[in-house]
Amino acid sequence: MRLSRYFLPTLRESPREAEIVSHKLMLRAGMMRQEAAGIYAFLPLGLRVLQKVCAIVREEQDRAGAIEMLMPTIQSADLWRESGRYDAYGKEMLRIKDRHEREMLYGPTNEEMITEIFRAYCKSYKDVPLNLYHIQWKFRDEVRPRFGLMRGREFLMKDAYSFDLDQASARHAYNKMFVAYLRTFARLGLKSIPMRADTGPIGGDLSHEFIILAPTGESEVFCHKDYLDFPVPDAGVNFDDIPGLQATVDKWTSLYAATSEMHDKAAFEKIAADKQVSARGIEVGHIFYFGTKYSAPMNANVTGPDGKDVPVHMGSYGIGPSRLVAAIIEASHDDAGIIWPEPVAPWRVVILNLKQGDAATDSACEQLYRQLTGRGIEPLYHDLDERPGAKFAMADLIGIPWQVMIGPRGLAEGKVEVKRRADGSKELMSLVAAVDRLAK
Ligand code: ATP
Ligand code: MG
Repeated sequence: MRLSRYFLPTLRESPREAEIVSHKLMLRAGMMRQEAAGIYAFLPLGLRVLQKVCAIVREEQDRAGAIEMLMPTIQSADLWRESGRYDAYGKEMLRIKDRHEREMLYGPTNEEMITEIFRAYCKSYKDVPLNLYHIQWKFRDEVRPRFGLMRGREFLMKDAYSFDLDQASARHAYNKMFVAYLRTFARLGLKSIPMRADTGPIGGDLSHEFIILAPTGESEVFCHKDYLDFPVPDAGVNFDDIPGLQATVDKWTSLYAATSEMHDKAAFEKIAADKQVSARGIEVGHIFYFGTKYSAPMNANVTGPDGKDVPVHMGSYGIGPSRLVAAIIEASHDDAGIIWPEPVAPWRVVILNLKQGDAATDSACEQLYRQLTGRGIEPLYHDLDERPGAKFAMADLIGIPWQVMIGPRGLAEGKVEVKRRADGSKELMSLVAAVDRLAK
């Protein structure tokens, strides 16, 4: 992509309304724009990152056997009356009337709708296990939308819903998502820690919030330090291996980890002092087994092998891709700007032309652009007539992992300079070597 033909409205000044670094940097880097409190437009750069996050979320859901679909954002109030949540949900729900005065709502979540879909088609134990998910916008009229995408009112959510015949099989469904979440966050360059969460009236231990540690996080969290170095299952993990998955989940729940709501001070203080982590965290995912909470009132029953009808056992599994974009920046930035982990970077490489209009420099830049593109890497080419200093600052701000600086001085010796954004290290090399390095 040539910057001269792109839309990347970066800001020099830090906008005053932004309190935390990710919000500031997203506005400055031209990733998004606030349209109303807690409601944002994704500008092209922001959308590229959001799509990369979604692609990883999707791959890991698919790997774990979940099946993608897409439910609408607008739902009917009657559906929510069936579960009893229409009145219970309160002011966070955006309620709407259509022209026929029918009560509708903008979905804050989809348990009711997916239960209705399940019961329409699935009647037998042979129809389960099943896990259906979608990635769709949600609306929650949060009391305090803040921190940009971190706590929006309109936000993107991946929500999956599992259906099983009994609790034992529902636990396996839960474990699949547990492991898929560990993998998802690791691939996004984040260290996530599953923390026990409140299961409410259902009880049991099958609810975890996935938290990443960050000083600006809204949750107060407590955990054992060793979690930060636990290995994450690799791509070859067998999701059908019931004891194998259980062993992974057991390991990842063996040490202390809790948010303030579930905190047990006495248990925490039993951890060796140098292993106690008391910090702030961002909730990036939440998984939940809730049994027959929706299937019982909504009559989503399946006939078991013994011929008896039982309400199906369900779980739901949420990840916030739009919050994740902000969370990744909270975890990976410096004073100069964003440092994208490679898997979510909007581009892998940015080419900085240090003397626009100089024939040799322009042609070397074009050559690199073509060769990288030919090797399957789409670079961003900063081809505007600006001072080198401004180009350096802009490249650091938007956080592209690799910068290639091309100017007459280096070219006189047949060299270009390759800079790694993460550690600032720079290396002079020939154009050919640069292509090889960046395309590997
Ligand atoms: P929180 O405790 O942060 O309000 P929640 O418990 O209400 O979140 P869930 O219903 O568990 O959220 O939603 C699943 C996921 O959706 C969360 O883990 C988070 O990543 C994301 N999410 C929830 N609320 C928001 C929001 N207001 N803005 C952005 N992402 C959100
Ligand atoms: Mg939650």
